[in-house]
Parts: sequence; structure tokens; C-alpha cells
Amino acid sequence: MGPKIRAGIAFESRRVETAEDFTRQIELAAPDAILYSASMPHFSGFVASAKAQSLCPDTPFIFVSGTHSEETAAETRKRATTDCVYTTTLADLASTFDRAIKEAEERKKRKAQESAITRLSRMYADQTRELEQLHVQRVTLRNLSRYLRASVTQAEVYATLECFGPQLFQRANGKLYLVHPPGKHLEAVATWGDKSLAGQTFTIRDCWGLRQSQPHQVRDPQTELLCGHVTAESNSAQPYLCVPLFAEGETLGLLHLRRAGEESTPLAIASSMESYLNLAVALAEETSLALANLKARDSLHEQSIRDSLTGLYNRRFLEEFLLRELVRADRKKHPLSIITMDIDHFKRINDTLGHGAGDIVLRRVGLLLQGFVRQSDIACRVGGEEFSVLLPEASMQIATQRAENIRSAVQELKLKYEEHTLAAITISLGVAAFPDHGTTPAALLHAADQALYDAKYRGRDRVESA
Ligand code: GH3
Ligand code: MG
Ligand code: MG
Repeated sequence: MGPKIRAGIAFESRRVETAEDFTRQIELAAPDAILYSASMPHFSGFVASAKAQSLCPDTPFIFVSGTHSEETAAETRKRATTDCVYTTTLADLASTFDRAIKEAEERKKRKAQESAITRLSRMYADQTRELEQLHVQRVTLRNLSRYLRASVTQAEVYATLECFGPQLFQRANGKLYLVHPPGKHLEAVATWGDKSLAGQTFTIRDCWGLRQSQPHQVRDPQTELLCGHVTAESNSAQPYLCVPLFAEGETLGLLHLRRAGEESTPLAIASSMESYLNLAVALAEETSLALANLKARDSLHEQSIRDSLTGLYNRRFLEEFLLRELVRADRKKHPLSIITMDIDHFKRINDTLGHGAGDIVLRRVGLLLQGFVRQSDIACRVGGEEFSVLLPEASMQIATQRAENIRSAVQELKLKYEEHTLAAITISLGVAAFPDHGTTPAALLHAADQALYDAKYRGRDRVESA
């Protein structure tokens, strides 16, 4: 049945007998206003208006005439949080209807404005929170960088990452892997967040990031390409990020970040992965720089204490080391011995075959000494063709025996230079011990040198004690 037009209003009447029917009719008609009259035992005006309010909260609900309806309307208004319930008589219906529709439109407009304001302020709050978070991250990154630059050992670099990592990457676990040269495999050196995260070694081939020399990001592990080192683990279903570390064109290692357990919306994951990426790239750069600086400093230090021809320690290091070891020997009441040695008639080798041959002899003797010293001992080239071996905790007797072993081993060296087979070389050795022959580095070295001169004087190729 089509609507009836009265006083400019298109009325459509429907008879409903149950609450379910009422619901269905409202959903079908989507009316501008609901006029209600009469009431039924199990479906009162109050129930109807409450239903209407929940179905279409902005649609005016108008009770038409009758004391029963007026009471219900009053009661409804009292209980309801909405002000779209009206009561009227048939005579006033048109004007009540007009007023109700106008007010409903006003309400709708106001609501739209309110929701726009709410949306804006929520957006503003989100942005503020994001900015605050960015600020905190930047401050954390700056602090972290300061500690990285002040680190003097690799262990300190790792500790710095483990301390700041959780602050920098919220809701993510992290790992730093370094490339170890022999097999070029990667080993975890620092871990934050879930320490139980497996950290087995892998190779460059097992990581898309390392292979392409650029960050590899996985937001959805179900659909995107996973790295071999990730699929090898049991909990590989989390979004993650791999950022390679470089220094002087070499791959140094890998920064790996993995979202921690809890469920999240794809949007939240995407935005956090995006913020991880920027931070992780910055952190990877800072860490590479710190590690490269340490390496450079280590190699400078190595250069300053090593002899370049033989690779043995130099005189400077011997003196420093001797000083430290003498203090320790004194405190612990341990002996300490030193052997100094000098190649016999070395000038002849240089004179007959040239410096190249002399250098080969020096290298071979250096190599031999390296093979003779234990972990706690140190072998040095102290001058041209002079060497020393420092033996902490070794008595005079032990040191003299070691000196004798070195002497006979040198004698047995088979040396070749270009097509020449060199004649056997010999060395002279002097041995001195703390505290009997001196308590300072200078005194002890002097005593050993005196013993060495003694050995030269008594015919060379022999060991003499101070
Ligand atoms: P002695 O048995 O008395 O020790 O005789 P010697 O010839 O070994 O002693 P001397 O001190 O007279 O000569 C040492 C030579 O060692 C002088 C120098 O030419 C040579 N020499 C010093 N440093 C190096 C080096 O780095 N390479 C080479 N090839 N020769 C060196
Ligand atoms: Mg000599
Ligand atoms: Mg000499």
C-alpha cells in the first residue's frame, strides 16, 4: 500500500503485533519519524520506543493521543537518554511532526559535527603520540650513539646494544650477528628481548638482506619471502627485518629485528615495521662505525707493538710487558726468566747473498721462536738480528733448558734462498732470571745481554747464564 500524503507529510501505516515484527518493519521502511498509537499487552509503547531508540536513535518517536500513551511517553522520556520522544494529539500532529523532523535534523547535524571533532582530536592525539614517540626514539638513538662511540671493546658495543635495544624497538626482539672470516658465517654476538630466540650460525646465502646488501622487510610471513635463517627457526611466523652492516665495502654483520608475540592489526604492524626500518638503518650505521673504529684502533695498536718483518713483538712492547710481569712476579713471589739471543756472523749472510737472504733467515728464526713459546710467553725481535723470549713463572733452570732447545733447533734449520742452500746458522744465547739477576726491566735485560756477550766471547753457538 502506497503512502498517504496529508499536510505535506507522506504517511505510511503498518500494523505490527510483535517486537520482532516491529524491528523488521523499521529496518525495511527506514522512516524519518515514527508515529505510534495504541498499545498491546506484550508490546507496550515503552517497549516500542526503546526498540526504536536502539534501532534508529535519531528518528523521532511520536506518541499520538490517549492518556495511556502520554504516561508511557513521559516514562520513556524519563528513562531515555535521548530527547526524540514526543506526545501529541491528532490536531497538533502536523506541527509536532514538523518540529520533530527539524529537531532530528539539528541533532543529526550536531552529531556529525561532534563526530568530526572527535575524529580530528583523535587524529591529533595519534599524531602527538607519534611525534612524542619519534622524539623519544631520537633521544634514545643519540644516547646509544654516544655510548657506542665511547666503547673501547667489542664487548662494550654489544652491551650498549643490549641495553638500548629494548627502549629503541618496542614490541620487538633483536639480535646482532657478526661475520666471522674463516667460513664467512654469521654468529650472534648481542641479543635483546626474548633471549631464548634461537641464534644458530648461518651464512650470507641464508639471508635475503645480506645477499642483496640492503634491508629485507617481512610484514606478512604468510605471503612474503622468508630468509633461510628465519625459516630454520620454530617461531618464524612473526614479521621481521634484516639490515646488513657494512664497513669499507665489506659485509660486517646483520641487525635482525622480530616483532614480539602479541597479535596486532596489519596497520599497526606496518606502521611499527616502518619506524623500525628507519631506526634499524641508523643503528646499523652507528654500530658498523663503532666496530670499524675499534678494528682500526686495534690494528694501529698491533702495528705499534709488532715487528713488521717477523710479526713478533717489538722492543717497546717487551719493555712494557716486562715491567707488568715483574710487578706480578714480585707480588706472587713467582720466578720470571728472559732469554736474549743473537745470530752468529749474520753480517756474512748479508755480505755474501744480500739483504734478501738475511731477511729470510730473520723470518725463519722468528717463526721458529713463535713455535717455541707457550701462550703465557712472548717472543720479540728486539733489534737487527737479536731476539728475546720472556718466560713468566719459569725458573732459571727451565729457561736455560728452553734456551738450549732453541739453540739446537736453529742449528737444524734448513734454509734456502732463491736457488742457494744456505749454510747452517747458529745463535748465541744469554739467560737471566728475576729476582737473582735484576728486579727492574733494564737490570734484567742488561744481565741477559751480558750473558749473551759471554756466549759470543766463549766461541758462539752456546747458552750462558747471567
Ligand atoms: P756476531 O756473531 O758477532 O753477532 O756477528 P754479526 O755479523 O751477526 O754481528 P754484527 O752486529 O756485526 O752484524 C749484524 C748485522 O745484521 C748488521 C746488519 O747489516 C744486519 N742487520 C740488521 N738488521 C737487519 C735486517 O733487518 N735485515 C737484514 N738483512 N740484515 C740486518
Ligand atoms: Mg750477530
Ligand atoms: Mg747483533
